[in-house]
Amino acid sequence: MLPSKKTIGIIGGGQLGKMLMEAGKPWNLKYHILDVADAPASSLAEKHLVGGLMDADKIKELAENCDVLTYEIEHIHLDALLELEAAGKTIIPSPKILEIIQDKGLQKLFFKHQNIPTTDFELAENQTEWAEKLIKLKGDKVAAKLRKGGYDGKGVELVDKKVMLEQYNQIPFSEPVVLEEFVGNAIELSVIVARNSKGEMTTFPTVEMEFDPKANLVEFLFAPASISHEIDEKAKRIAMECIFKLQGIGVFAVEMFLNSKGEIFVNEIAPRPHNSGHHTIEACYTSQYEQLNRILLDMPLGDTSLISPAAMLNLLGAENVNGPYEITGLETILAIPGVYIHLYNKATTKPKRKMGHITVLGNTLDEVKKKAATIKQVQGMKQL
Ligand code: ADP
Repeated sequence: MLPSKKTIGIIGGGQLGKMLMEAGKPWNLKYHILDVADAPASSLAEKHLVGGLMDADKIKELAENCDVLTYEIEHIHLDALLELEAAGKTIIPSPKILEIIQDKGLQKLFFKHQNIPTTDFELAENQTEWAEKLIKLKGDKVAAKLRKGGYDGKGVELVDKKVMLEQYNQIPFSEPVVLEEFVGNAIELSVIVARNSKGEMTTFPTVEMEFDPKANLVEFLFAPASISHEIDEKAKRIAMECIFKLQGIGVFAVEMFLNSKGEIFVNEIAPRPHNSGHHTIEACYTSQYEQLNRILLDMPLGDTSLISPAAMLNLLGAENVNGPYEITGLETILAIPGVYIHLYNKATTKPKRKMGHITVLGNTLDEVKKKAATIKQVQGMKQL
């Protein structure tokens, strides 16, 4: 029934929570959030519980007043959620899935045990274990990833195996890591999968991500991806297989590498709406955010077809700007047809912080790529 009488609780009040609530506004949905005082989603929530995401008591307090709970970030108090779920609270996705995803080591083991294609890897508990593990891996380069706590490329280092074996002091992490084989010249794909409590599944069109190699952050995203129909079908099939094998309910982003031989390797899964699905707000009949709202309320899944080709670029904090800021060039950008600007309402910036994004629609992929390149040139940031 709409409007729903259910209150949705969101752990985290960042941009993903903000866009989830924006998608719920036409249906007058009610949300409570938990996050720090000046969180981006704050003004949209009916109730904002001020507190940290690792505060078990606050999570329980949020749960008390909500019918269904979700989260927009992985780094939250897991045990509190497991306890709440065991006591009968509906949490989407289940914290049992979050438990696997919070730990990149458990995630890789899950892929391996479930025969989901992923790059070969080793787990190292500490720096002394690096050498014996590294020599088991093929290739010159290795992706080293902190098992816990990394995000947006932080906690990931692409390292040279020989250097690591010869120069012990160059090892970047002392905490437990996943060491995985590097996929050279990879095309990075993402498929967003939505699965509801009845087990029905939809995928959003496969997107291609272009990364800023220095920051390990999505720089541009294009939909549809420039891949063959066959690869597209394969990517979607693998992504759905991941979520089916997880028995996941919710919205999930499955990030994958495609190599020059046409092989696909699953990199990681995000148990929430994702940066690679921002464009779905304007480019698809149903956005990833509306799809999650539908799942939270037990409503039928929506049509995920692409209305038009799209590009998305993140507005990232400039290297030389810290604190109060102004994003420049937006007047010029707004004059370009088919442009949608999203600003995340963050009071201060720091280098590479996600401050907003711009989606561009057009008749062809070529057209949106050209517009996106122009926007990238024009957009800037200045210190206030
Ligand atoms: P995060 O969870 O912080 O986003 P990822 O595991 O997605 O970290 O890694 C960030 C980026 O590093 C990837 O998007 C990709 O560009 C690069 N990367 C990570 N693992 C590999 C790999 N095995 N082979 C090639 N590139 C990789």
